[in-house]
Amino acid sequence: MSDHDAPNPSQSSAVAQSTEEQPVADEEAFAAKLWEEVESSSPLTCPISYSGPGDADTVNKAIALLKVYTVLLRRRHPWLTFDSLESIVFHSDYALALKEIGERTGRPCEATSEASGVGIAMVVNLEDKCIAVLDAGVALGIADSSDQAKHDLCVDTALHELCHVYDYGRKRRLLSHEFLKRRVAPIEMHVFTAADATWSEYFANKYSNSSCSSPDMHPKYLAEVVPDVVSDVKEAIRAYRTHRQLDVLLSLCQQKVRFLFQCFGYAAGRLAANEAALEEVAPESVSALQAAGLWQRWLDAFAELRRLDGCRETWASFDELKPLMRIADDVFRDLGLNYREDAGVVHVDVPKTPDTMPSNPLAQLFGQMLARPTSK
Ligand SMILES: [Zn+2]
Repeated sequence: MSDHDAPNPSQSSAVAQSTEEQPVADEEAFAAKLWEEVESSSPLTCPISYSGPGDADTVNKAIALLKVYTVLLRRRHPWLTFDSLESIVFHSDYALALKEIGERTGRPCEATSEASGVGIAMVVNLEDKCIAVLDAGVALGIADSSDQAKHDLCVDTALHELCHVYDYGRKRRLLSHEFLKRRVAPIEMHVFTAADATWSEYFANKYSNSSCSSPDMHPKYLAEVVPDVVSDVKEAIRAYRTHRQLDVLLSLCQQKVRFLFQCFGYAAGRLAANEAALEEVAPESVSALQAAGLWQRWLDAFAELRRLDGCRETWASFDELKPLMRIADDVFRDLGLNYREDAGVVHVDVPKTPDTMPSNPLAQLFGQMLARPTSK
């Protein structure tokens, strides 16, 4: 990187300036320095494509700003590199872009679609590299200086994805023997993805944290997510008492618990970045966790995420995620699903408790029978 300073208006024209113009001049000099850094050693060297609405000037501005924010990110964390990034794809049809890349990789990639959260960005893991796919609206938001809140959210989203890129590269480097080919033990099937997602979101939210980030959005979000997940799981168990399709129940509950843990990761990452506790930032989320009987699980997960981060450069196996997997298994148990292994076979007990029994099983059963199409 060049050591030469960009022309500094605050020095060259100091005599002519009023004191009010001074900060503007300082900001201009700072911007000039950042731009020089982008041009001489941009942290983003991969192709960046854009398909969506907007004119070329807007798109160019968005990409230039993204590079500037990435330089700032590198200044905060000089070790964050994006060598494993093959390309950045902004697409107005985010789901279609994911589908196309999925077809290329031979693995389906789907946009997140939880009732309480819609995905707009994702890092897709290929064999050796990865691709960051973002909704075109994220680029437009970065370029939009008229809406500060939207701008900040879009910058935050893009930097969050870039942190996933680093973490992808770190896992590939340290865990090449297991990466994308680890055989998950049957008894870990229901918790591995949840643990991996929690870690990934924690890391991304902790290190992407900037002046554009909201310190309380994700911590507060837990107050909504926790009761929703608990009631959805209980409802699914009550329905299972009559339909008796265990696979249907388990697939839904695994999705719910995975989402809950992902949200644990988002919240914990932001709190860690700001050295804050949930009690200070989002007391309503503390109440929700306590009401659900999950307060200790949150504390355990947060502590474990910090431990994982402390040793992240020495991970020798995805087994590092085992303590986090155990916490996820505890949550399944708290919610009424007991996974156990017996002679290599996984069993799931669903103990009958007052909150997991249908209020009128006979009526439900008849309802289902009458709803079935009659055979000729
Ligand atoms: Zn993420």
